[in-house]
Formats: sequence, structure tokens, C-alpha cells
Amino acid sequence: MPTNTSESCKQVGGICGHAGLKPATDWRDRFSTEAASRGDAVMQRMHAILAQPGNEGVCSLGPGAPSADFFPFFAAEYTVPSAGFPDDAPARCTTQLHIGMKDVSEGVSNYDLSSALQYGVGTGSKQLLGFVKEHVKIFHNPPYLDWDCILTTGNTSAMDTVMRIFGQKGVTMVIENHTYPTCFETGLPLGYSFFPAKMDNEGLLPDELDRDLSSWDEEARGMKRPTMLYTIPTGQNPSGATPSADRRRQVYAVAQKHDLYILEDDPYYVFQFEQEAGPPGAAPPTTQQYARSLIPSYLSMDTDGRVFRMDSFAKTISPGARVGWVTAARQVVERVMRVHEVSTQHPSGISQIALYRLLHDEWGHDGWTRWMLHICEGYKKRRDVMVGACEASLPRDVVSWNAPAAGFFMWLTIDWHKHPQAGTMSTHEIEQVIYDAAIRHQVLVVPGSWFLVDQGKSGMDTVFFRMTFAAPATNAIPNAVKALGDAIREVFKMG
Ligand code: PMP
Repeated sequence: MPTNTSESCKQVGGICGHAGLKPATDWRDRFSTEAASRGDAVMQRMHAILAQPGNEGVCSLGPGAPSADFFPFFAAEYTVPSAGFPDDAPARCTTQLHIGMKDVSEGVSNYDLSSALQYGVGTGSKQLLGFVKEHVKIFHNPPYLDWDCILTTGNTSAMDTVMRIFGQKGVTMVIENHTYPTCFETGLPLGYSFFPAKMDNEGLLPDELDRDLSSWDEEARGMKRPTMLYTIPTGQNPSGATPSADRRRQVYAVAQKHDLYILEDDPYYVFQFEQEAGPPGAAPPTTQQYARSLIPSYLSMDTDGRVFRMDSFAKTISPGARVGWVTAARQVVERVMRVHEVSTQHPSGISQIALYRLLHDEWGHDGWTRWMLHICEGYKKRRDVMVGACEASLPRDVVSWNAPAAGFFMWLTIDWHKHPQAGTMSTHEIEQVIYDAAIRHQVLVVPGSWFLVDQGKSGMDTVFFRMTFAAPATNAIPNAVKALGDAIREVFKMG
């Protein structure tokens, strides 16, 4: 049976006694009435009992689960890059993951199809959760005692769950000025107010945020004092901004000073392009070396247990798998589990077992690291092609940009003052005509106003567009960017 759990990784989830570390702050007085009043789901108790070690022999006459004898999947077969895949061309060296019904009793693996196809517990399977906890320990090593993880169906669902848990009516959340719309689309119907904080090319501005919070006047602002902060710290969606370690420490200190609970939504964490490449031909970094080379997450500096970190397999493996995980203080993770018990229950077992057999049984942490490095390199190349295409095809008088240091997105700033009708047209109208012209020229880009809580209705003094280099084929990027350049020239009557 494969095991690749290193000794150092076995003590995770606050199980180990870290000298000098304290337990998380108690957040329970911030829980919504809905979250605080949730009990455990009675039907789930039985799954928890059956999942306990030592209870494998219990004959269950409890949950009305279907019989594994009647599942119409007898085995699953996935073709994947084998553990020894070549870093430059993983598809050249593949292996078949054969997943059978009785792999556990036959000693093939400790997770098999008969249990993956069955109902499970609200935390997700102990097998995949165990692997994820090891990953969190290696990459983030949260510096407080009682952290824990839970599997989710991705960051979208995790965001909905945490916003319900903390969502008393009237909660104000600080967000980055332009942000991922799902955040406010989830929060507005729950009664959240949003305070868009100023940013620069590196993301949130800690001093500005501190000033705003220090002089907060609820009446003048029309919102309660913020108690939460939502941030996308790596390759921010949409601006592409990535704060340095120092900037993050400053933001964390502001969050401590003003007692903000932080939602860290970080699906692009491993796509950091500016890590130093080793000399040509050098061995790839070990998982530990790679983890150390990344800009530290908020979770990794979270001595208070005030960070709710959302990770997802969506970008590193596959969005359709719908599996991610949360790391947070155990008392908060416990509430997430209560929500799961009456909603998603757990991510699809078919996804969980495919991920586990690939990540744990085939690759191990080092193989997964090599995979992440491989795709990071691929996205970096696409970024470089897009930056080159911008230099070649966009009118610099009107458009400016920075090469993003991480993530999937480029953020274009349009100098709308140069539009021939800038005096009579609003920024919103100028944005719309550029967007329409781009589509006429066969390219789709995302208007900056879509990332604003009020969609720019109260007026905008800037015009932005977001482009992704992740989705298009590399050789499609130059023509697409040229089409955008042609559209902008047409709108700005640049001849
Ligand atoms: N958060 C951010 C910042 C994203 O960019 C995305 C994907 N576009 C998500 C969350 C969604 O993640 P998931 O697929 O895990 O739900």
C-alpha cells in the first residue's frame, strides 16, 4: 500500500504541540444567528461513527445508504502523467490509475471505489483531507495551535459558506477596490455592505486602510465599522496585483489593529512567475524548497487564527472536479462542517478518489510540486506572449499595463481622457463602446466596471479591462490582442 507521508508531515492540524504558539482568537460571538444555532445533523452522526478508526467491522443497519452491490461503476481508469513524468512534456510518460471497488481489502490503496461512491462525512474523506493537511503544513505552517482543514466543493462554495457563518445583517467587509464579483454577488443578498479599499500595483494600501478605519464614521459612511476583509493576495482577480511579503505583513497588522477577520481567497497561489529558476539542468526543487520560494500567505503569518484561507484544485488540477479546501481556526471549520452536513455534504466521491489516487498514491507531494511548477512555467510563457503582443499591438498613447507577477490576468488601463468625446461621454459609456468594438473585432475582454460593487453606476474616474492569458491557446494570443488594439484605435479615431 503506498504511503508517502513524511514524518514531519504527520503532525498537522494543530495536533502537534508547538512551543510558544497560542490558540486562535475566539470568533464565536461573530457567528450569525443562522450559523450559531445550527446543531449537528442527526443523520450525519452515523456516518461519523462508521468513519471512526476501529469501526470498520461494524455492520451498519443505520444510514439508508444504497448498497455498493448496485453501483453501476465497477472500476475506474484514468490516464495521468506518471510519477516520473518529464518536466517539459508530462504527456509523454503516462500511467493508468486503475481504481477498483475493493482496493482497500486487496491492499492496493487505502481509498477505494466502493467507499468513494458511497455517502461520506461533512469534512470530506479522511484520505484526501489528510493529504491536504500535509500540504497546508508544508506550504503555510499556520503559526497557531488549533488550525484545521475541511474539504469544500471549491472556493465559490467556501465563500458562500463563510459569508453565511459571519453574515449578521449589517456586516461591513473591506474588499479590494476592483474584486472578484462572486464576493459581492454572494454578500449583497445576505445583507453585507462592502467598503472598496484603495489599491496600487501591489494590491491593498495598508496605510490608507488604517487611516480609513481609524477615522471610520458609521453615519457618514452609511455602513457599520468593517469587521471583515476579503482579499485575493496572489495575481489578484482582476488587477493581477501581488503584494510582497512586507506588504502582506503590514496589511495583517492593520487587520489585527482593527480586528478584521480575513478571507484569503488564493486560487492562484502557486502561479508565482518571479521565482528564481535554478541553473539549466538543475534538479527541480523539492516541495519544501518550492514552498519556501513562494511569497508567504496570510495564513502563514496568522498568529491569531483570524484567516479563513480558501484553496482550490480548480486551477492546479481541474475546475470540473469541484474540490477545494479551507484552513481556519477549528471552531470556524466546525461550523463549516455543520453547513456542509445540510447542503453539499462533501465533494463528489468520484472527484475525491481521482485526486487522492493521483496526488497521494501516484505523485506524492514532490510529484504534485513538479506538476505545479510545470503548469506555472506554461502560464508564464503565455503571460510573456501576451505582454509581447501588448507591446506590439496596443496603442501606448491610450493603453498602459504591467506584466503581472502571478496569476491568470493582465489589467489594462485606458486613458479615457484621450477619447474624442471625453467631455460629453461618461467613462461608463466609453468603456461600453470599447467593449462593443472589441467584440465586433472578434475578441472578448472584461470591462473593469464588472468588478465594482455598484458596477460603476455611481461614476468611475478610471477605465480598465481584464484579459486572461490562461485560457486561450498560446498562438491565439497575438491575434486576439491585435484585434483589441484595432478596436481601441477605431474607438479613439487613431487612424
Ligand atoms: N476566487 C477567485 C479569485 C477566482 O478567480 C475564482 C475562479 N475564477 C474562484 C474564486 C472560483 O474558484 P472555484 O472554482 O474553486 O470555485
